[in-house]
Amino acid sequence: MARALAYSVQRSPTASAVLGNGLVYDVAIIGGGPAGATCATLCASQGRSVLLLERSQFPRDKVCGDCLNPLAWIVLEQLGLRERTLFLPHSVLEGVRFIGTNGLSVRVPLPHSPQPELGISRSQLDQLLLTRAREAGVIIHENTPLKKLRRLPSGWQLECDKGVFEAQQLVAADGRNSTVARQLGLLPPPLADDRIAVQTHLPQPACLNKDVVLQFVREGYAGLAPIGNNLANLCLVSRPRDLAAIKSWATAQFDLSEGQTWRSIAPLRRMPLAPTQPRLWLTGDTAQVVEPFTGEGIAYALRTGALCAEALLLDNPALYATRHAALYRGRLWVNHLARWACLNPKGGSALLLLGRVFPPFLQLLTRKVVAKQPLLYPQIP
Ligand SMILES: Cc1cc2nc3c(=O)[nH]c(=O)nc-3n(C[C@H](O)[C@H](O)[C@H](O)COP(=O)(O)OP(=O)(O)OC[C@H]3O[C@@H](n4cnc5c(N)ncnc54)[C@H](O)[C@@H]3O)c2cc1C
Repeated sequence: MARALAYSVQRSPTASAVLGNGLVYDVAIIGGGPAGATCATLCASQGRSVLLLERSQFPRDKVCGDCLNPLAWIVLEQLGLRERTLFLPHSVLEGVRFIGTNGLSVRVPLPHSPQPELGISRSQLDQLLLTRAREAGVIIHENTPLKKLRRLPSGWQLECDKGVFEAQQLVAADGRNSTVARQLGLLPPPLADDRIAVQTHLPQPACLNKDVVLQFVREGYAGLAPIGNNLANLCLVSRPRDLAAIKSWATAQFDLSEGQTWRSIAPLRRMPLAPTQPRLWLTGDTAQVVEPFTGEGIAYALRTGALCAEALLLDNPALYATRHAALYRGRLWVNHLARWACLNPKGGSALLLLGRVFPPFLQLLTRKVVAKQPLLYPQIP
């Protein structure tokens, strides 16, 4: 009996489509991070019935450098969240300070702009994005990981602790270790020589001011950013065998206690996945992971979430595939270069020396990462 109840299909009160014997959601989204929340808000704003399943209970912290790239503003404005984002505790970032293994330091100022780079806590930013989705009418179940997924002739069946749901379209926005991709056999095998990242928050060191500091050390690199409320975010990235050593370095460097809480994540690198399949849309980190050093992943998640919604509303997967590819085109070489520098801290330090002798080199790289990009898609009518 209990089993029968658990398997009763949940119906959406606003569902507009008929599948089999009953009503189903137009769209189900797995994952309520920036990609999933954006896609959900934009689909629901256009009258689609949207279900979102999120594994965690928000607000939740996340392994991230907490830097919001200016490319994100275009979507935050589309969601009507400009003022509310700026109302959250944050720090307007004014420069990037690179420090080499030899102590050489080079500072690149960030452009002054109405769309600045922010240091902002992911727990608060993601909470705001999910709240926006709820306001748009998305049915959200937090603390509800997707357990099982089944393809139906004209949609999907999703099983979780809250029951069994059906939807016509499925959006996988559940991050780099996507359950959807794993269950469908799409998740690529781990890459050799990958790294691991750990992250924590700490009181903002006085010397930090409003700069992000990216420091190469023998074991990898550290990223430190002010995030407002007198707090800073610290991320460490290294090969797994060097993790203990880089943590010891950070404990001494930032005067942390031995009991400091660290969150961890892997992989940092993963082969990209095709962003669409019939009735399936992959967005954010699920489709493509970028090098964390450049601090662009949230902006890519927001932008691919928006691109996905727009193509989904037009029922045009090919449009999504084209625009998705265009979004990353011409920028991944910066990612490759950054990854190379991170894997070879001495090489990275040599690049800094080049940047010191020839400042336009680092300025070019920084501008490439924080420059404004045109909107790649038409606005939803
Ligand atoms: C060390 C490090 C530093 C970084 N620093 C930056 C930075 O400074 N700036 C930046 O822009 N980017 C940064 N990034 C990248 C950024 O964190 C990601 O690109 C971004 O979070 C991707 O957003 P998303 O919505 O695709 O996925 P996520 O933010 O990962 O969201 C996925 C959501 O899916 C949920 N989920 C997972 N599995 C399930 C399931 N089975 N069922 C239901 N829900 C599920 C998760 O709980 C999560 O809330 C960094 C990444 C790393 C690793």
